[in-house]
Amino acid sequence: MFNIIIFGPPGAGKGTQSSKLLERYELVHLSTGDVFRSNIKGETELGLLAKSYIDKGELVPDEVTIAMVEDFLATRKDAKGFIFDGFPRTISQGEALDKILTKMGTQIDVVLALEVEENELVTRLLERGKVSGRSDDQSEDKIRNRFAEYNGKTEPLLSFYNDKNILRRINGIGNIDEIFGNLCQAVDSLNHPSK
Ligand code: ADP
Repeated sequence: MFNIIIFGPPGAGKGTQSSKLLERYELVHLSTGDVFRSNIKGETELGLLAKSYIDKGELVPDEVTIAMVEDFLATRKDAKGFIFDGFPRTISQGEALDKILTKMGTQIDVVLALEVEENELVTRLLERGKVSGRSDDQSEDKIRNRFAEYNGKTEPLLSFYNDKNILRRINGIGNIDEIFGNLCQAVDSLNHPSK
C-alpha cells in the first residue's frame, strides 16, 4: 500500500488537491469531514454527536473519530492505498493511525503539508461558505475557533511527522494545477518501497 496524509489548516486546499491526487495515484479518499457531514445529513447517531462539535468549530472527540476511521479502513483492506484528508488532527489520532496501519501491515509514506497564511484562509473559507452551505464556513467566529483548534491541537503533528522524516512542506498559494504539480513532484521523488 501507499498512503498519503494531506495536511494543513482549514481552507488550505486539502479537499481540492486530494481529489486530484487520488485519481493520479489510484488511492481511496478518507475525508473525516466528509464522513461526518454525510452522517449529519443521514441524521445518524454519529452525525448528531459530530454536529454538536462541528457547529462550534471544535474538533470531534478523538475516540469517536478514531473508531470511525478504524471502521472505514476495515472495510477497504484491498485498497492500493489511502489519502487521509483532515485526519489525523491530534497527536493521539496520529499515534492511533500508526497502530491501525501497522496492524494492516502498512504505514504512512508521506505527509504533504499545504502552507497558507491565516488571512488568506479566512477569505477562502468565507467565500466557500457562500456556495457550500457549510455552516461552519459562514461565521468568522467559528472559523477563528477552528484555527485555534488547529494551532493548539493539530499543528504539533508537523514535528511528529518531521521527526519521522516523512514531512514535505508545499506552498499552498497559487494556481491549483501548479500546487498539484508540486505535490506530485514531492510524491514522485520518494522511494516507493511499499508500492
Ligand atoms: P476543514 O479542514 O476546512 O476545517 P473538514 O471538512 O476537514 O474541513 O472538517 C470540518 C470539521 O469536522 C472540523 O472543523 C471538525 O469539527 C470536524 N473534523 C474533521 N476531521 C476531524 C478529525 N480528524 N478530528 C476531529 N474532528 C474532525
